[in-house]
Amino acid sequence: MPDAASHEKMTTVPRGELLRIEKSSIHDGEGLRSVVFFKGCPMRCAWCSTPESQCFVPEIGIDRSKCVRCGACAATCPLGAIRLDDDALSVDRATCDGCFKCAAACPKRAIKKYGFSASVDEIVEEVSKDDVFFFHSDGGVTLSGGEPCAQPEYAAALLSRLRAQGIHTTIETSLFVPWEDAAAIIPHLDAVFVDVKHMNPEQHEKWTVADNALILENIQKIDASAHPVDITIRVPLIPGINDDDANLQDTLRDKLKAIELLPYHRLGLATYRLLDKEYALNDTQIQPWEWCAERARFLSSCKPSVPVIAGGSLF
Ligand code: SF4
Ligand code: SF4
Repeated sequence: MPDAASHEKMTTVPRGELLRIEKSSIHDGEGLRSVVFFKGCPMRCAWCSTPESQCFVPEIGIDRSKCVRCGACAATCPLGAIRLDDDALSVDRATCDGCFKCAAACPKRAIKKYGFSASVDEIVEEVSKDDVFFFHSDGGVTLSGGEPCAQPEYAAALLSRLRAQGIHTTIETSLFVPWEDAAAIIPHLDAVFVDVKHMNPEQHEKWTVADNALILENIQKIDASAHPVDITIRVPLIPGINDDDANLQDTLRDKLKAIELLPYHRLGLATYRLLDKEYALNDTQIQPWEWCAERARFLSSCKPSVPVIAGGSLF
């Protein structure tokens, strides 16, 4: 039983702003995993495949292909944020406060809700339903996003509770957060996946809105920290942007469990349209698998002691 002081601390942890929970993932750490996606990210990578995770608060997406122009959403909105004009259904997202009355009113389910808030207890209860799968597959829970380290108090409390139940914990992060926020979370982790977008600071800023100094500093601090945690560097491999020899070689470090290449894809494109957001890489083409495999072989040849993974295979 928690004592009075720890109970007080638990009840003051804020609720988390989350996007969704995906179960039985095999791509986000060891074994079968439940992945808890957080809302909110301080970066804006040009190739982001989950634009619905970028905003820190819940937001609506409108599938105009399902809309029958009945006007129920506009009539329901208490803030007048939805307009149905002759030629278009539009949302004033600066006015919208995320009440989702429009989504409830829509007879065609054309309005999606991206985001929900939940307590630590609620998420622990939900993911614990898969305890048996974690046990038999050496799996566990992965926090992803969005950026889980941008909600440090909630993420730390959630991870702490999961570990207390013997559940293996992992995080996917850019580490683009103040060190204090990352440091609050690291002690509750068994493994860390750090997304490294580009090793050149100017190129990093060009494609993500900020340079990479804070990220590289935080990786060094984890390397030097007393808490032993496995770091895997993940590189979202974007053709013509970060797939050159020099950039890949620069990602190699001494203390690494592995490097993983994630080939470019465009699976988030439809969601950009639902959110009325522009996709920045319209001219970038998806490459054949051999492109990624060749880049993995090259990386492996540079430093054979560091395992290189791509498409679930070891190179
Ligand atoms: S979520 Fe609420 S405020 Fe926003 S458009 Fe819908 S009804 Fe209006
Ligand atoms: S309520 Fe749904 S179907 Fe009706 S206008 Fe709004 S989005 Fe379209």
